[in-house]
Amino acid sequence: MSDSKRMAVQTRFRPVQRYVWSGIAAIALTLITATSSKVFAAETTIVIEGCSLFDSESATLVPDQTVVVRGSTIIHVAGKNNIPEIPADAVRIDGRGKYALPGFIDAHVHVVHVLDYAHVTGDELLPLYLAAGVTAVRSTGDEVVAATLVARFAAAHPEFCPRVFTCSPLLDADPPIHRDIGRAITDPLLVPELFDDLERWDITTVKIYAGTSRPVGRAVIEESHRRGLFVTAHLGRYSAQDAVMDGVDGLEHIWSVFNYVIPPEIKNQPGHRGRLSLNSPVCESLVTELAQRKVFVDPTLAVFRNMILLPDVAGIHDHPDNALVPKRLREFWPVYLRRTGCPQGGSLEDRQLEFAKYLELTGKLYRAGVPLLVGTDSPEPQVTPGFALHQEMEMLVQSGLPPAAVLKAATLTNATVLGEHERCGSISEGKVADILLLSKNPLDDIRHTRSLELIMHHGIMCQPQALLERVPSE
Ligand SMILES: [Zn+2]
Repeated sequence: MSDSKRMAVQTRFRPVQRYVWSGIAAIALTLITATSSKVFAAETTIVIEGCSLFDSESATLVPDQTVVVRGSTIIHVAGKNNIPEIPADAVRIDGRGKYALPGFIDAHVHVVHVLDYAHVTGDELLPLYLAAGVTAVRSTGDEVVAATLVARFAAAHPEFCPRVFTCSPLLDADPPIHRDIGRAITDPLLVPELFDDLERWDITTVKIYAGTSRPVGRAVIEESHRRGLFVTAHLGRYSAQDAVMDGVDGLEHIWSVFNYVIPPEIKNQPGHRGRLSLNSPVCESLVTELAQRKVFVDPTLAVFRNMILLPDVAGIHDHPDNALVPKRLREFWPVYLRRTGCPQGGSLEDRQLEFAKYLELTGKLYRAGVPLLVGTDSPEPQVTPGFALHQEMEMLVQSGLPPAAVLKAATLTNATVLGEHERCGSISEGKVADILLLSKNPLDDIRHTRSLELIMHHGIMCQPQALLERVPSE
């Protein structure tokens, strides 16, 4: 996204978000007694004293910091020699030996899709995200009325829900691949009219899907930019080279890069994906374009490993995170896998080699300077809402990213594509108080992001275990 496009995304008037933020502010003014969280009156001051603070701008840990929150806002971040006077009635939290991070954002979730088939409503799973330290999610394609209702529910219950940002339906061929969340658009001349409708749903993201042709894709990109919307794509018919040339802002899934760097002469060879060279001219050229144009790539490694390639590996289908979702969803996952023909890709060895290539390409994108997002594709099979983000972060480290780069991507970069980096994504004065307190250093081992002691969402203190207890077990 160019600077002018980014500015348009930042400054565009978005009524749903106005609703979301003002709804939360109204709630935060009220003193609520809840089992899962402590909500104080807006003027209450909360102080986290003496913590190591992850500065997501510089991707470094700053020792011995004190964070002062009043109501829903961070009002001071200071070293030990600059601490302002603390009111006598402030709630004080001893942060010594602990690590404060901005709340995580999951850049690729569905709050209706998949759940609709499993007779689960999106609101039932929202506490799982917050229990995992995910304080905001970007929907990347859902039935728009239902997703809007889930977003409103989340805004009304910040004490157990993350913020939900909504997306267009998947803009696709006719008929669309996913009939529950797709919208057919085949004539570029009809794109402005489609956007007149979409705009009234107050979406944050526009998503191009696999059946879209180049002329329609180009019209969608132009119209998105005209209206200050971020446009991302799960590519199929429209090639990565063309979409990047046409100015797409983001690409969803590592396939949206990988599938366009396979030389035609090897496409019919069995197992070729796991043996592909990523040093070919076509790969180098696409990676360079992505880096130069700063196209955001959201690899969503969790869904490729867990659902598409390796769901038959015991450690994946029996992963302890999977037990956290309601039984209705857990029992539906194998049905959905059968319906979608997963796992894909031949023998287990071939599939493992293929997944290793996705990690290799992700590392290559990072080293080239392509901005990466952290998204999961929850709640696709075995991609547990909230907790899959920790799996995703582990896989990004396996791909070659330093833990600090992963944490920056999961906070500040993800906030940027929502146009929200002025309000969240770092622990900074004036930003909303979405803060995690960890007992172990995540820069030593990315798995330490699971050592969550406290989750503060919009200035409300939540306990992880109490949030988990809100999720239905059946
Ligand atoms: Zn998805």
